[in-house]
Amino acid sequence: MTTALQDRFGRSIDYLRLSVTDRCDLRCSYCMPQGFNDYGEPVDWLTFEEITRVVAAFTRLGTSKFRLTGGEPLLRRNISELAARLKRIEGVEDLSLSTNATQLARHAAALKAAGVSRLNVSLDSLCAERVLNITRRDALASVLDGLVVAKSAGFAPIKINMVVMAGVNEDEITAMADFCLEHGFVLRLIETMPVGDTGRNAGFVDLQPIRKQLQSRYGMVDGLVAGGGPARYLVTADGRFSIGFITPMSQHFCETCNRVRLTVDGTLYLCLGDDSKFELRPLLRSGISDAGLESAIREAIELKPEKHEFREQPGKIIRIMSATGG
Ligand code: SAM
Ligand code: SF4
Repeated sequence: MTTALQDRFGRSIDYLRLSVTDRCDLRCSYCMPQGFNDYGEPVDWLTFEEITRVVAAFTRLGTSKFRLTGGEPLLRRNISELAARLKRIEGVEDLSLSTNATQLARHAAALKAAGVSRLNVSLDSLCAERVLNITRRDALASVLDGLVVAKSAGFAPIKINMVVMAGVNEDEITAMADFCLEHGFVLRLIETMPVGDTGRNAGFVDLQPIRKQLQSRYGMVDGLVAGGGPARYLVTADGRFSIGFITPMSQHFCETCNRVRLTVDGTLYLCLGDDSKFELRPLLRSGISDAGLESAIREAIELKPEKHEFREQPGKIIRIMSATGG
């Protein structure tokens, strides 16, 4: 889709990921340091009014897809109310949410009613002890419960995001694929990114050979899945089962990147693998007009780099993923 919001490299920016909190109840080894507590101050969090203003400005510039993320977005109080407010904005065509699902069981129905159409759930293992080791919390039962409730609330498809880590869960990929096939979930395998020391130490696995193995095991062909973003999908002949591969390391997708990220404190990050950013909060809090906000967003988009340098400069990004909004 062509939007009014084009970057210097001709890419249309039609997708905004909104981090609604930097807090999380888990400490996934690749994301947050164990014992991490260095959160932003609530006074700096964008209010629902401020988030709504930013989203409305993006829609006027042609952006139509928005995702609520974090940290753990379900920890932001009244998250369903925020979702409903955003969904009512003209031009918000697609509103989705990424969650670790520990609290999903009690939020799923309200999120669906609010107009959230698609859910991504992080789940790296089906073994309780491994989940405990990866997330530092005994979370598997609550996540599985959340999945059951979300499915019966009518979310379809639900995508399961599995970060593949050497020596941790790479031996569980087919078990996870079988689980997703059985329950009607889309599986997405993710390569670890060197975001923060946590990301750098996570045990990168190249997904290209795994892709070939899964292709022959399930008789899959290249395919497309709605809202697929950077994932490259394999789909079974009957279309019932899909696996996406998010491969920022082994095969980057920067030339088609259509997204930017807004942190809970109102900083726009133009690329996960770059430090370029633009602060919207001071503008929002000093009474900027709607037209002024739109030109500030245009100015920010000019800063979007051509590509990340995860391979060339793996030590570059010191901020952690939960702070940016993965
Ligand atoms: N808490 C929610 C969740 O876990 O889905 C939303 C935020 S989380 C930062 C978003 C996604 O980023 C998750 O799918 C997580 O697995 C992924 N992620 C975090 N750190 C990563 C890293 N270093 N490399 C690759 N993916 C990462
Ligand atoms: Fe929390 Fe999501 Fe990061 Fe895990 S990946 S620590 S659930 S923000």
